[in-house]
Amino acid sequence: MTLPAEETFGFQAEAAQILDLMANSLYSDKEIFLRELISNASDAIDRFRIERFTHPESAGTEPEDEPRIRVAFDKDARTITIADDGIGMSRDEVIGNIGTIARSGTAEFLRARSGDARGDTALIGQFGVGFYSAFIVADRVTLTTRRAGLPAAEGVRWSSEGKGEYTLEAVERAERGTTIVLHLREGEDELLNEHRLRSVIKRYSDHIGRPILLGGDDTPVNQATALWARPKSELTDKDYDDFYRQLTNDFSGPLAHVHAKVEGRYEYTLLLYVPSQAPYDLWLPQSLQGVRLHVQRVFILEDADRLMPRYLRFVRGVVDSADLPLNVSREILQGGQAMDHIRSSAVKKVLRLLKDMAEGEPEKYATFWTEFGATLKEGIPDDPAHRDDIARLLRFTSTERTGVSLADYASRMKDGQDKIYYLLAPGLSDAASSPHLEAFRAKDIEVLLLDDAVDNFVVTALPHFEGKRLQSVAQGPPDFGDMEDTADKDAAEQDDAGCADLVGRLKEHLDGRAFDVRVTTRLTTSPACIVADEADTEFALVQRMRGSGLPNQPILEINPRHPLIERLNAGQDDPRLADWAHVLFDQAVLTCGARIEEPAAFVTRLNTLLVSLTSDTPGR
Ligand code: ADP
Ligand code: MG
Repeated sequence: MTLPAEETFGFQAEAAQILDLMANSLYSDKEIFLRELISNASDAIDRFRIERFTHPESAGTEPEDEPRIRVAFDKDARTITIADDGIGMSRDEVIGNIGTIARSGTAEFLRARSGDARGDTALIGQFGVGFYSAFIVADRVTLTTRRAGLPAAEGVRWSSEGKGEYTLEAVERAERGTTIVLHLREGEDELLNEHRLRSVIKRYSDHIGRPILLGGDDTPVNQATALWARPKSELTDKDYDDFYRQLTNDFSGPLAHVHAKVEGRYEYTLLLYVPSQAPYDLWLPQSLQGVRLHVQRVFILEDADRLMPRYLRFVRGVVDSADLPLNVSREILQGGQAMDHIRSSAVKKVLRLLKDMAEGEPEKYATFWTEFGATLKEGIPDDPAHRDDIARLLRFTSTERTGVSLADYASRMKDGQDKIYYLLAPGLSDAASSPHLEAFRAKDIEVLLLDDAVDNFVVTALPHFEGKRLQSVAQGPPDFGDMEDTADKDAAEQDDAGCADLVGRLKEHLDGRAFDVRVTTRLTTSPACIVADEADTEFALVQRMRGSGLPNQPILEINPRHPLIERLNAGQDDPRLADWAHVLFDQAVLTCGARIEEPAAFVTRLNTLLVSLTSDTPGR
């Protein structure tokens, strides 16, 4: 058979930039190249298993012995070799995965890197550019691979000096998997040493779940045992942290972990971690790293949605079941009782871990909240079964302080206060200066300020917390419950009566714009504000529905004590009352952070009024 000759390809610009970085600036932890290549080998073995499991037809029929990762070195040739019997790559996959870099992580890495070599090497694994770390120590890398399921003639050899280009050629390769040969740079000979390589593997790859063999030795260098299967009493914090790092490539380390062996109807072990920082892809639709499922120590699949609900998608770790059959199919996983049981107990364990953290280590919890609070909030609408537990974990900013839990709020409620008040606003600064808060400020009542997009769904799904109603300060008539005394009520009634005519006229002028006009006790300094009808959906949701930021049925409330309103009330025959009505309405629209429908008309009216006022008072 004649194989096509070698072909040369150019790296994409970003890849060339990464390669240059590897070769020239990331030297401080140069041994990490081995960690990255071993991690890829281990991933490839896992992916082979997954493929076996999900697409047995394309995985091929090659026998699967206990998969291994082999590291070898050759002093004379000055090479280090890393070989695996994982899934391998087809020619297209080689081009797609390591030839070009059209991978999202590359650009992210270039953006995230600090220029500090130590910090940057820690980022390599996270952003999916690990393979290129081979060029930290090598000036030529040859990768030979053949994908599982393809014939031996479809092997591929990729070779590059890590500059602008690489070559590809077709080769015969009997075994599936990948072999990478690093031709070391001048001066790297100290790596060609068994003791040295052994210690690097121990240090960075001890908890990789596959045996790593060095040279001709058949005893694995690493523990190659499932760390989670060992008793807690044998494990130190460092063991847990190391395992986390190897599992996730997140070198910032975990914030907390829970490790439990559960026995009963179903038997399983779980080791779950809460990371200390959000990954860059937390909000991308398919950020699917999540929790790995093993059955009797054998890796089955990595799937965030199956083992953790979306709102806990930041949780990383391992679940190892003793019950599921090894050839368990996806369908069984989707509907099986064992899976449901494991999932629900895993959720409980994580919520419990967070609760303990919130109570015992509030500062740590504040870090958690900054990184993952918005994600956790999704659980309020999404997970009714655990709503109360999640509600206790929520933290808000209020008119008084930050990091307020609903329980804190409840403990500070005024005598006679029976509701938890909140204000939804597009941003914290809009919220803090909103006229809706005026009366609450005057009465010294704390209000939660909700500015997160998801908060709207949170308050809709959480009408009560421990028997106390959550009440928007911008919806329905102001209601201070028992906090209002009779003097307040009498004054309000008088105001209503005194302004009845004015209210009627404003209503006429604002027909089609304001659903209703009424006198309010809500305001102390502003002349007017917009509130939502009680039956209406809340502002933020409507904002998305209507685009203007106004409720569907906006109600204009006026402050009878404001000089402007007093003046309008005194001179209702003013021919400019229509202009005043619209200007009041538009002002109120602006102060709730919404958009005026016809800004030019507003400006024209305002200017007409200003001109008439200046001519009323000549000389000013
Ligand atoms: P990451 O591992 O984060 O995806 P890398 O730069 O380390 O990023 O590897 C890039 C890609 O190259 C991998 O996602 C994988 O598709 C492919 N790859 C690298 N090494 C191997 C290997 N030993 N076997 C099969 N595929 C590999
Ligand atoms: Mg990798």
